[in-house]
Amino acid sequence: MKTIAVIGAGTMGNGIAHVCAQNGFRVNLIDNNKENLSKGLITIGNNLDRMVSKEQLKPLDKTRTLQNIVTFNTLENGVKHVDLVIEAATENLELKLSLFKALDALCTPSTLLATNTSSISITQIAAVTTKPENVIGMHFMNPVPLMPLVEVIKGYNTSNTTANTVTALAKTLKKTPVQVNDYPGFVANRILMPMLNEAIETLYNKVAGVKAIDAVMKLGMAHPMGPLQLADFIGLDVCLSILEVLYNGFKNPKYAPCPLLVNMVNAGKLGVKSGEGFYDYNHSKKAEFVSKQFLK
Ligand code: NAD
Repeated sequence: MKTIAVIGAGTMGNGIAHVCAQNGFRVNLIDNNKENLSKGLITIGNNLDRMVSKEQLKPLDKTRTLQNIVTFNTLENGVKHVDLVIEAATENLELKLSLFKALDALCTPSTLLATNTSSISITQIAAVTTKPENVIGMHFMNPVPLMPLVEVIKGYNTSNTTANTVTALAKTLKKTPVQVNDYPGFVANRILMPMLNEAIETLYNKVAGVKAIDAVMKLGMAHPMGPLQLADFIGLDVCLSILEVLYNGFKNPKYAPCPLLVNMVNAGKLGVKSGEGFYDYNHSKKAEFVSKQFLK
């Protein structure tokens, strides 16, 4: 494997491109939004600079990493003759289905097609292609350069060869791959999201306030970040959409999103990315307490 196309230069895509390029792969980074593409490249440069300043990377390796990345605005040129595509575009079922239909037509038959989706069925995405055996989930964690896990998700028709190739690649990227099967939320979000939802439900039921709930989980369970702050970092809209996938997929009320979460998303309070969620981030990404009645 030599060349990897990464679709989407956002939060996850630029991190995936960074890690692939730093480990010697030629990366075609594709985003249909020019501004996001240049922001993605700037983020990669800043993250590499930080690694150089902490002496985790030599300046020459920063230059080599950046030289390994070529950017594209359209799929057509970026996915020709690549060994693997890792799709990290916006979490939207219709978008992913249309991207994979296009990839099926544009890529060479041996190209493996991976998606970084947090929750959408790999089997459903693979079904729009003519080679579902080549389609797989490669779920990196945020922030990609720092987090060791890659959840490798086998769809119903994913071949063992595809799973083994992608697992080996994750190791080459110095990550730890864990193979799981394709059911709603896979493993990571099936376990994480109900915990975050329960923390929001605990707040909604006025058992305790934001700071108290986060303190209990940080100090009592040794979590590095409280569940409400973590939900803010992931994005409350993303949490809601994953819970909806779990709720619809299992038809089990235990996954029903808390009404407070729904209300906050409808109000545009999405966490860090909108400047406010359970905490206020308008001045910096550091959480400051929001003194709203229901959050006390
Ligand atoms: P993001 O919104 O930061 O970035 C998505 C990018 O995709 C944007 O730059 C957008 O311009 C681009 N895009 C949209 N349509 C496109 C198209 N047709 N062609 C090319 N580019 C296109 O989103 P993100 O947080 O990076 O999430 C990307 C994927 O990773 C999603 O499937 C998400 O569920 C998954 N994921 C996210 C996280 C997280 O913490 N944010 C963690 C794990 C997995």
